[in-house]
Amino acid sequence: MNRNLINAVGIIAILFIITACVCNTDRSGTTETNISNEITTAETPPADDSKTMEKDRGDFIVEHSKVQNPRYESIDADIKESKTLEKAAYKLNAALSLPNDIYLRTKDCDQINAYYDPNDSSVTMCYELMEHFYKVFKSNGDSDKLASQKMSEAVQFVFLHEIGHALIDTLKLPVTANEEDAADRCSSYINLEELGQEGVNAVLSAAEAFRIESRGNAPDATSMADEHLLQEQRFYNALCMLYGSDTNKYSDIVDNGFLPKARAVRCPSEYQRTVDSWVKILEPWRKN
Ligand SMILES: [Zn+2]
Repeated sequence: MNRNLINAVGIIAILFIITACVCNTDRSGTTETNISNEITTAETPPADDSKTMEKDRGDFIVEHSKVQNPRYESIDADIKESKTLEKAAYKLNAALSLPNDIYLRTKDCDQINAYYDPNDSSVTMCYELMEHFYKVFKSNGDSDKLASQKMSEAVQFVFLHEIGHALIDTLKLPVTANEEDAADRCSSYINLEELGQEGVNAVLSAAEAFRIESRGNAPDATSMADEHLLQEQRFYNALCMLYGSDTNKYSDIVDNGFLPKARAVRCPSEYQRTVDSWVKILEPWRKN
């Protein structure tokens, strides 16, 4: 995807939210998050039904580790100030009951990664991944400011992908196909149904990152055998979800040739099925 698509869809102008999607760390060491009273109070929103109360035995809880690599101290500090992980936890806790706690972490990991660990029910977003996305967008000619913005947006998509894995495992949700694809669709569903323009930007920036990353990387046996879809497939799937969410609003995606018509015609029903599926499987755990 290139800037034409972004311009065509009319996304760019918008918010410069460097810290919009990522998180918040505590530089003082491994502690639970030092969050505001407002968020603390709201992290366990009151449930209004006894059935929900009974099974709401957990929360999304933000934890921070001391950054190890001095190179990431700046992003660590920025993320801490933004409190975005706490805000995400607040929204998730307001929406869903959990049978146990799920921990949300940002840290330097010595690898470009983001992952859900079922052993301790934790989602970890690595600073190396954030840096990677920034470099990806810079390599495509974006300014520092735009690369930072898109990095945050792409990280938001990946974060909600990991939340998808966490929900599948924790809530024992049925998955009848590739879980990696299901997690991508969970992210698209939450971004596009719940987060307005910010969510649209997250899907677009993630799609653009997938596209840039796929350039010059011809699929080999390892990548084709991987449980993750190829980055180019994730690019088309993300565009399909976006186009399918509103074919009139995003018609330029097809008109300008970014999404082949043969796929596009199915995207509205594909998107609706994705939404209906996630709504249905999360329904028993939804508050209110
Ligand atoms: Zn995954």
